[in-house]
Amino acid sequence: MHCPFCGALDTKVIDSRLVAEGDQVRRRRECITCSERFTTYETAELVMPRIIKQNGVREPFDDRKLRSGLMRALEKRPVSIEKVDEAINRIRHSLRAAGEREVSSRQIGEEVMRELRQLDEVAFVRFASVYRSFKDLNEFRAEIDRLSGE
Ligand SMILES: [Zn+2]
Repeated sequence: MHCPFCGALDTKVIDSRLVAEGDQVRRRRECITCSERFTTYETAELVMPRIIKQNGVREPFDDRKLRSGLMRALEKRPVSIEKVDEAINRIRHSLRAAGEREVSSRQIGEEVMRELRQLDEVAFVRFASVYRSFKDLNEFRAEIDRLSGE
């Protein structure tokens, strides 16, 4: 977190407590460079990055959109809702862990493809072919190889 007074990168947390019935964390910080103190409030919602769509429009991360994308690919496939929930949690976690304030919708698409590959090959192929609109089968194979190689 940048110091709002001098812009220095290094600040230390001197106090941290839960507020708003535990939905928020209030942190007192002190700048290591100029010694000014300031307060930050963090909520879980703020931690999820915003999504940059392909046309450049930003929108809030939406669980329901992620879920409906997964469910569409998994339609009539033998995958339990628990597995879908786990996949969604992993995607959320990895987006949060990246620590970016904004991520591209493409990056989320990649995460979804990675999860679907583990869950169900048919669903993966469905999603990937719509998502990437591959021109030919070779391009599609190359993409699967690329994902497998990770
Ligand atoms: Zn400072």
